[in-house]
This record gives sequence, structure tokens and C-alpha cells, in this order.
Amino acid sequence: MARVVQKFGGSSVADAESIQRVAERIAATKRDGNDVVIVISAMGDTTDELLDLALRVSPHPQPRELDMLLTTGERQSAALLAMALIDLGVPALSYTGSQAGVITTGTHGNARIIDITPGRILTSLDEGDVVIVAGFQGVSQDTKDVTTLGRGASDTTAVALAAAVGAQYCEIYTDVDGVFTADPRVVTHAKRVPVLSYEEMLELAACGAKVLHLRCVEYARSERVPIHVRSSFSENPGTWVVDQTIIDQHRRQGDLPVEQAIISGIAHDASEGKVTVIGVPDTIGTAARIFRAIADEEINIDMIVQNVSRAGLGRTDISFTLPHSEAAKARDALKRIQAEIGFEGLAYNQDIAKVSVVGVGMRTHPGVTASFFDALAKADINLDMISTSEIRISVVVAAKDAARAIQAAHSAFQLDAQTEAVVYAGTGR
Ligand code: ADP
Ligand code: ASP
Ligand code: MG
Repeated sequence: MARVVQKFGGSSVADAESIQRVAERIAATKRDGNDVVIVISAMGDTTDELLDLALRVSPHPQPRELDMLLTTGERQSAALLAMALIDLGVPALSYTGSQAGVITTGTHGNARIIDITPGRILTSLDEGDVVIVAGFQGVSQDTKDVTTLGRGASDTTAVALAAAVGAQYCEIYTDVDGVFTADPRVVTHAKRVPVLSYEEMLELAACGAKVLHLRCVEYARSERVPIHVRSSFSENPGTWVVDQTIIDQHRRQGDLPVEQAIISGIAHDASEGKVTVIGVPDTIGTAARIFRAIADEEINIDMIVQNVSRAGLGRTDISFTLPHSEAAKARDALKRIQAEIGFEGLAYNQDIAKVSVVGVGMRTHPGVTASFFDALAKADINLDMISTSEIRISVVVAAKDAARAIQAAHSAFQLDAQTEAVVYAGTGR
């Protein structure tokens, strides 16, 4: 008998029939003799719809109340799934994040899990129930208010629970057959990757591959929880995300090809914008002052480019990218220090996209950057910004060029599959 945690995303439970279908799948796992903990997302695009509704009522919804509203989405699907299972003769109990013991920080909209106290879950499992936990939510340790963990964070709930209840692995069921070499909604011939290291998945998730929530991968790496990403619409094997040492071991045993792929995937992110601080005096400490002002607002920035000083003027432009949702806050913070620093002005461009090529093989294969830039040049695409890590190269391009850039890089690195990738459901929202 195994103890498994399975997470079903919104597109897997978009309507009543889908909930019944998922219930049948869970019932089969339970009948096979497993202890089953389910983490469930809100139905379909419910979270987006609730958010739109909130913004229609109030342009700047109060964060505590917004969390009260958004958490209802997962409560609905959890209760409905429990009903469907009970009708199949499988005892099941749904819990909110708070009831399940998901203890978080107090930052509404982006709380972090501090601890899981799974007492009630373990008791229910002992009594033979399938436990269903509403994903993406918890309760603040300090204020005792309901919190949410950030968009897409039901994945994180699932991995955190898997660690807390000692599950062998965590299954993430979604609307595609695993993690692909690129988003199959953008690259029709993207290829499923059978195994990825935590490290590679972290880079892909951080660069916008929303198939797994970034913090879920961080959690899995630190708690050593293997993740299996797969489709709830097929029985196909998916993608295992595990420690590199396990991958190396399978290579030695001959169950995986000895040669590691140079590039494991291409990710893109269209949710960022670019701020340019124009005419910044080129003096020591100025950049520090600018980025301190941004940091004080708790805004995470991504890429930075500082141009060479304009001849004779001693002034330069500094550009950086940040989540579009933080742009107004950043502009206000910079305006407050404009007189003190003496920069000339601010510009903002939302029509950008970041395209990133990720792979551990880059460490040992020179020339990946050259091939990537060559492919973009051949596709007549201009690069606006560049940044790299040991296993990643990211560029910023115009938003309108993003899909072509991804496809060009995908083909250049010979990642195209023979057959089309299947997208089973979802709106891609
Ligand atoms: P869920 O509702 O199940 O959480 P998400 O929409 O959050 O599903 O994530 C699945 C989606 O992630 C896919 O439908 C796909 O469009 C997108 N995606 C982006 N990059 C990738 C990738 N590299 N591999 C697979 N899917 C990806
Ligand atoms: N329902 C939440 C969202 O749409 C959480 C999740 O699905 O993971 O962001
Ligand atoms: Mg998701």
C-alpha cells in the first residue's frame, strides 16, 4: 500500500462531468489499496472570474477580503469532488487549507507556507477516507486570517502536503501529458520530456513555464519529493521531476540515455514589462539608490541593462524588467527619488516577452548562446536585453515576435517532435 498525493488542476475539473470523471479516477486509486490525499484547484477559470468580479466591485480590492473571495473557488471544487466520491461508494472528506493545517505567513495574495500540521488529515486517512484539500490557501500564523499562496499555487499545496504526510511522490494532473520542450499551446510539435532535474524545472518555472508553480519545485527540491506531472485526460506516462543524482543513477543503470540533452526546454514569459530610467547621472551609488527604492517596495526585478554613458554628458539609461503588475508601484517609488537623483525621466514598455533556453548540458557544451542568437537573427528578431545563468540564456524580445522566437529556437536546437503535442483542455488563461 502506498500513500499518494494527487493534485488536479482547474481544467481537469472544469464542469460537473469532469468532476465525476476525476472522482472515478481517484476511486480506482483508492480501490487499489492506496491512502489518497487529493489537492484540488478551482473549477476552470473560476479564480480569474472571481478576480474580474472583485475588480468590477472595487478597483483596488482590500487584500484580506480578496483572499476570502478567491479561496471560495477551491472550496467549491473540494466539496463537489467529495460528493462525487461518496456517490461512488468511496468515503471522502473535504477540508479548507486552514482545516488541513496549512500554516502560512500573513502576506495576502502571496503567502508562504511556514508549516503543515496534518493531524486531521492523518486521522481521516487512518479512518479510510479519501482526503480532499482545497489548494492554494492556508491560514496566517499571526492574524489567523485566510491567505492565498499566489496564482497557480495549488501545486505547492500538493507538494507541501506530500512532504508532510510522507507520500512516496506527488502526482500533478493537468491538461497536457507532462512537461514539454516548450508550451504546447505555442509550439505544436513540442516534445514531452520524460525526466527533468529539480534544477532544470526550477529554471523553466522561474522563466514562465506555468505547468508547475515555482515554489512547488523549490519545496520538492528541499524536501526531496519526486513529482510526476501527467494528464488527467489520458493514461500516458508524464514527466518525472527528481534529483539529478537519481537521473545519474538511472543513466549508469542504462535505463536512461547516457548522453544528456543539451537543451531541456524553452520557456517564455509575457507577464513582465520594462522600465527605463532615462538620463541617470553616471556617478557612484546612483544605481544602488535606484534599486534600493525598488527593493523597499518589495518589488522583484529580473533583468538589468545599463547603457554606456552618453559621450561628454556623464549620463546613462538604466533599464530593468519587473512583473507588469508592479509597474505602477515602481514608477511611484522612482518618481519620489527623481529630484534627489536628478534623472531625466521614466519610460515603460509592456509589449515585451522574455524567451529562455534552459538545459544543464550548457555547462559542458559551448556555443549554445551563439546557436540561440543565430536562430533569432535568421528569424529577423531583434534582442532587447540578455541575461544568463549557468544553465539558462534569456532574451527580451518584442511581444509580437515571441511565438516566432520560441519556434525558431525550438527548431534550431532540434527539439521538434514527429507528432503534434496534445492539449486536452483548458483555455490557456
Ligand atoms: P492546471 O490548471 O492543471 O494547473 P496550468 O494551466 O497551470 O494547468 O498548467 C498547464 C499549462 O501549462 C499547459 O496547458 C500549457 O499551456 C502550459 N505550459 C507552459 N509551458 C509548458 C511546458 N514546458 N510544458 C507543458 N505545459 C506548459
Ligand atoms: N485556482 C488558483 C489559480 O488559478 C490556484 C491554482 O489553480 O493552482 O491560480
Ligand atoms: Mg497550474
